[in-house]
Amino acid sequence: MEYQELIAQAVKTKEFAYVPYSNFRVGAALLTTSGRIYTGCNIENAGFSATNCAERTAVFKAVSEGEREFEAIVINGDNHDYLPPCGVCRQVLAEFCDPDTFQVIFAKNQQDYRIMTLGELLPEAFRPENLKSKKQTETS
Ligand SMILES: [Zn+2]
Repeated sequence: MEYQELIAQAVKTKEFAYVPYSNFRVGAALLTTSGRIYTGCNIENAGFSATNCAERTAVFKAVSEGEREFEAIVINGDNHDYLPPCGVCRQVLAEFCDPDTFQVIFAKNQQDYRIMTLGELLPEAFRPENLKSKKQTETS
């Protein structure tokens, strides 16, 4: 899979980042298995804990429009190195994405990027199946 278009959209979406406090812009582009792309930027808040990352913005946009199956996400930030997703975003991705096949792409630009699976980034994730009680597991 070529990720050039996905990387281009993450870089473009970074322009919309709302970052009056950190001035650190991040853009993300999420690819669904059906081939649609949902973008997101980071959105800061004066109450810092209300800040939302670019990756979660993209996931929440997609899920709120009925998407549940994803193939890859690109992350591009205002730094000069590869930008990995934070722990909270990894957990949100673990809710919807296959740990073995979902690709997380840290892109400096369209020519220079790293790819890791979600399972490599968040091994032994707390996943929806962990919420099943022992009783549910025995009867199913
Ligand atoms: Zn994050």
